[in-house]
Amino acid sequence: MHEFDQESEELIQSVFRYTLDRIRNEPPLDGPMSAAELQALVGETVTPEGLGGPEALRRYTEHLAPASISADHPRYLAFIAGAPTKAAAVFDLVIGASSLCGSTWLDGAGMVFAENQALRWIADLAGMPDSAGGCFATGGTMANLSALVTARHDADAKRTAAGLDRPARWAMVAAESAHSSVDSAARVMDVDVVLARVDDDRRLRGDAVAEAIAGRPDGTEVFAVVATAGTTNLGIVDALDGIADACAAAGVWMHVDGAYGGAAMAAPSVRHRFIGVEHCDSLVVDPHKWLFSPFDCAALLYRNPAIARDAHTQRAGYLEPIIDDTVWNPCDYAHVLTRRARGMPFWFSLAVHGTDAYRDAIEGTLEVTLATREMVAAADHLELIVEPELSVVAFRRRGWGLADYQAWCDRLLAEGMALLTPTTVDGGPAMRVCIINPRTTVDDLAEILASLA
Ligand SMILES: *Cc1c(COP(=O)(O)O)cnc(C)c1O
Repeated sequence: MHEFDQESEELIQSVFRYTLDRIRNEPPLDGPMSAAELQALVGETVTPEGLGGPEALRRYTEHLAPASISADHPRYLAFIAGAPTKAAAVFDLVIGASSLCGSTWLDGAGMVFAENQALRWIADLAGMPDSAGGCFATGGTMANLSALVTARHDADAKRTAAGLDRPARWAMVAAESAHSSVDSAARVMDVDVVLARVDDDRRLRGDAVAEAIAGRPDGTEVFAVVATAGTTNLGIVDALDGIADACAAAGVWMHVDGAYGGAAMAAPSVRHRFIGVEHCDSLVVDPHKWLFSPFDCAALLYRNPAIARDAHTQRAGYLEPIIDDTVWNPCDYAHVLTRRARGMPFWFSLAVHGTDAYRDAIEGTLEVTLATREMVAAADHLELIVEPELSVVAFRRRGWGLADYQAWCDRLLAEGMALLTPTTVDGGPAMRVCIINPRTTVDDLAEILASLA
């Protein structure tokens, strides 16, 4: 197992060939199979003797990979797809192959340096101060949790410093349209969520935030407001400027969840929607969504990283040598210790292509979104639900119920045509497409919409 012999050489070459083909060719859409079907096809793979390289790879390429949907297929329009650049996709292999740990400056100075330049680009897009910093976490879920833990830590410390007791309950303010991971974070942290109303445009505004803070239950203190910069279902950007004012007035942490939509800060045509983001205390943007990085990668930034360090640094005898606030240890800024340098594929692609290419690629997806909006609006049998603000188009097929949408989606997947899934808007079934792949064309959407007639 430790020798680099002919067998290792062949194994590596065959994995490289597969990887090259996968990145070079149009990705397959494929689709899931039942565990029983997979058992029949794949059989037992974990055996005392081992299958050997060629056989293990064969079972992967012939059976396991085709039972998994490629999120970079141009007609993957459900949920939020992923569409890594070729540079980012292949660089993931380098990070895996190099046994580099991205936890600390001691272990990974070179990688942390590069990751921090990539984080800085996002901080600059948001207009955050020079002091801003953070790390790459696994996804928006972990990044939101880490930011909210930091926010509560800050509120707790301030209360203690003011000589006040802990409140009976801590709470965060969020709109119904906030991502499910915010609720999940509240459960993990054992805090409450005070719901704030959204306006007629489905947008959280400062007045609703102020109202929610003032209307909190007795004994409850609000430690953070979660604003969403691009809701997952409809792509709505909350009114960040007014929310920032409300947070400042109440002395409450402003967290901006831009896991999906934050990437669009790089697109001049929609940048105005993000005015006010520069006031955030923490910000999350997922490069594995709309910034063309492989899974999994979320950028987590703090206005004042020292607070995050205080909240997250792990202490143990064997860790003492690395606890050092004169260097940047990414593991101090999220709920993590051992850490893949998951920002490196993103960094490599940014370094290869330059930020202008990112701007143009995002603008391109926004153009396809607008063309899709036009097609939906022009079709008699379709009804546009909301004007797209980013790259989600939500619509209804007149006369259809949930079962019709589901049957249509099932048929598209079975035919290998596209992956779409129904959603719920205003309590009723609806369709949404989320366009983040620069290789998704207007023709793709035209063909899909035509099949709804
Ligand atoms: C996708 C998403 C998340 C969760 O991110 P993961 O990377 O899936 O964990 C959080 N917030 C918003 C707004 C999202 O769109």
